[in-house]
Amino acid sequence: MVTKIVYDDIFRLHEMTPGHPESPLRLNAAMHGIQAIKPTDTEIEFLKPEPAELREVCQIHEEKYIEEIRNKSDKGGGFFTLDTTSNRHTYMASLLAAGGGILAIDEITRGSANNVFVLCRPPGHHAEFNRAFGFCFMNNIAIAAKHILNEKKYGRVLIVDYDAHHGNGTQNAFYRSKEVLYIGLHQDGRTLFPGTGFVEEIGEGEGKGYTVNIPMMPSAGDKSFETAFEQIVQPVAESYKPDFVLVSTGFDGHHQDPLAGLGLTIKGIASLNNSLMKIAEMYADGRIAFFLEGGYNLEVIKRATQNLIEELAGIQVKEFSDKFHEKEKHKDYIKTTVKEIEEILIGTLF
Ligand SMILES: [Zn+2]
Repeated sequence: MVTKIVYDDIFRLHEMTPGHPESPLRLNAAMHGIQAIKPTDTEIEFLKPEPAELREVCQIHEEKYIEEIRNKSDKGGGFFTLDTTSNRHTYMASLLAAGGGILAIDEITRGSANNVFVLCRPPGHHAEFNRAFGFCFMNNIAIAAKHILNEKKYGRVLIVDYDAHHGNGTQNAFYRSKEVLYIGLHQDGRTLFPGTGFVEEIGEGEGKGYTVNIPMMPSAGDKSFETAFEQIVQPVAESYKPDFVLVSTGFDGHHQDPLAGLGLTIKGIASLNNSLMKIAEMYADGRIAFFLEGGYNLEVIKRATQNLIEELAGIQVKEFSDKFHEKEKHKDYIKTTVKEIEEILIGTLF
């Protein structure tokens, strides 16, 4: 069993405004979590990525936009939106983060890694075709999914995004494709950025039915996510039978996250990872790569990363004591959402 972690120090050099929550400290916290793992026989290796080639990046993004990121970085950085800014390292860090996803795919495809954690920043899932958005510049997971399809060895990619915020950029990249099935579990867009990801958004044309959105009520916790997994994620995966699984891992679904309002515990997050590993084992011969997206409570990032790597490496997952009281109304609300999704998706994936 070999688990690999894609990382480069340049990911710490990309910084936005002072005090911004999407900061290099997040990577320090993740590293502390990895250092806390007890040594075992399992191999955990770090890998340095190469910059992604522009021809691959430009299958997901407009060339002019990528040039804009480069130009701004060359000039020392600048604003893209009020909360998404670059510095002189952003262009190279983004290219290496995108390259990190590609490397993860190659490592798994050639059998030199069982699974990979792409520990990169800037994150990617909000980045759109021609604009930076929500702290994201290049959509690492979408570029990686496209890379899988380009290689033509595997043709059914499942992306599960459990970041607290809807993965609008990833959804839009494959909205008309049936080669990538996107499932997003996120806080209801009426209550959180980016304000999308409703149950009616199910894809278009050939891609109709290949986008599944599961909006969660604020304060929905472990039990609600468990229901969503059992009732939607697992049956949809069973119907689709992916041959590669990619995960947008956001630790901001945790109840102590400062930017979102969900109610997951560390154990709940670990259990989502465990379910995703099982899906990968069942249909994709274990091929799975996790990509770091959001998560802004440093202690949560540390513990959740430790648990994620333990899970990937097949080591006993350390249990942290961490409680959140999920109200009955939340447990009921998800059941209504599940029914709505089932009705909308009947005839497609169900
Ligand atoms: Zn997020």
